[in-house]
Amino acid sequence: MELKKPDESAYLNCIRCGLCLAVCPTYREYLKETASPRGRVALARKGLEGKLELSPNLIEQMYGCFACMACNDLCPVGIHPADLALSMRNVQEQIRPAKWKQWLFGGLISHADRMELATLPLRLYQKLGIRRLLYMLGLNRFLPARIRDLEAMLPRIPQRPLRRILPEVTEARGDVRYRVGFFLGCAQSLLFADQSAATLRVLARNGCTVITPKDVECCGMPARGYGRMDLVENQARHNISVFEKCNVDFVITDCATCGSTLKDYGSLLAGDSEWSARAEAFSRKVRDISEFLSQIPLKKPSKRIDTKVTYHDPCHLRRGQQVWKEPRKLLSLIDGLEFVELPEADWCCGSAGSQLITHYDTSSKVLNRKMDNVAKTEAHILASGCPGCQMQLNTGLKRRGLPLRVVHPVTLLDEAYGGADGE
Ligand code: SF4
Ligand code: SF4
Repeated sequence: MELKKPDESAYLNCIRCGLCLAVCPTYREYLKETASPRGRVALARKGLEGKLELSPNLIEQMYGCFACMACNDLCPVGIHPADLALSMRNVQEQIRPAKWKQWLFGGLISHADRMELATLPLRLYQKLGIRRLLYMLGLNRFLPARIRDLEAMLPRIPQRPLRRILPEVTEARGDVRYRVGFFLGCAQSLLFADQSAATLRVLARNGCTVITPKDVECCGMPARGYGRMDLVENQARHNISVFEKCNVDFVITDCATCGSTLKDYGSLLAGDSEWSARAEAFSRKVRDISEFLSQIPLKKPSKRIDTKVTYHDPCHLRRGQQVWKEPRKLLSLIDGLEFVELPEADWCCGSAGSQLITHYDTSSKVLNRKMDNVAKTEAHILASGCPGCQMQLNTGLKRRGLPLRVVHPVTLLDEAYGGADGE
């Protein structure tokens, strides 16, 4: 089979100006060329032109990229080092496919029911009170730093995945103005069920009948991050056909990562004559929840929330979707809420999916920088619209002993509407 490689336009025009170095979180921590966008572009070029072996060491530099896309935005000649690093991971998978990736992304993450089973131990860990005991007795302090940080990432896990309890149709309250689909992502269903339940209440309160198909698969981002574009394409085809049956005007998600991936299905399947038009039509309908709510007339929330809030921009929202004014606009609708801008709000938090697991030291350093900035705000709430960022931010806050609450901006809006008991 012919190797699918990035086109030479992906690297050839790099003028080595170095502008991208200033915005790269991995370069800023190590000041090493190989940890920079420019260095990654040069390595990829040498590897693709056959001047360097596509060795595990070379590919590791591609996995060291956090895919934050800051370099993509800045490059004056249109090089996208973040995309190139992801493409190189895909090249490696075609040459030396790793069996565990097929098992993890094709066999487990693609199947919601298997994911629910796999996360059962985590639910039991919290439900049986083991976690509470760990913190009450201060035993978490004795865990190795890595394990303690990973444990701290976990939110309060719902007793049942949202997919199990959510109705397929959530009726609009009052007059129906829109019929929308809701893409319930894996993390939202398994870990952040309360947030997505709040999202659906806000939509229903604002005249939306919401269709939530239960048979969607993972959006595809985890497989993309590990070079398995074949699996991402299959997941895209599946999700497109699921929503085609729903007959909705928009497809809404409250996960920044899912949103940026779903919006990309059009370009992902552009070369597939059977699917390109369908994928394009699907992607055109996708909206992040804050983007959608900012575009429709909203009911004024009736409750005050008297506190200080700041906001961290998820890379997949700010750069992946160019959505950053919208979440701030939603927060400004809430009476009593004092908004304070986070310094370097758009600087990556170090999550990048699984970097705290796979690149612990770098991820930790990047997170520390974020926490330095969070501490300066003196806010009580840290809002962010991505479950991956929220988990990473929780770890950073617990590490520093900072008592901020991490929450999705739309959850705050729901609280200002009165939450589940609101009128
Ligand atoms: S990737 Fe773009 S910004 Fe970075 S060195 Fe090359 S040309 Fe300059
Ligand atoms: S995507 Fe982010 S981490 Fe990766 S090279 Fe670009 S700026 Fe650096």
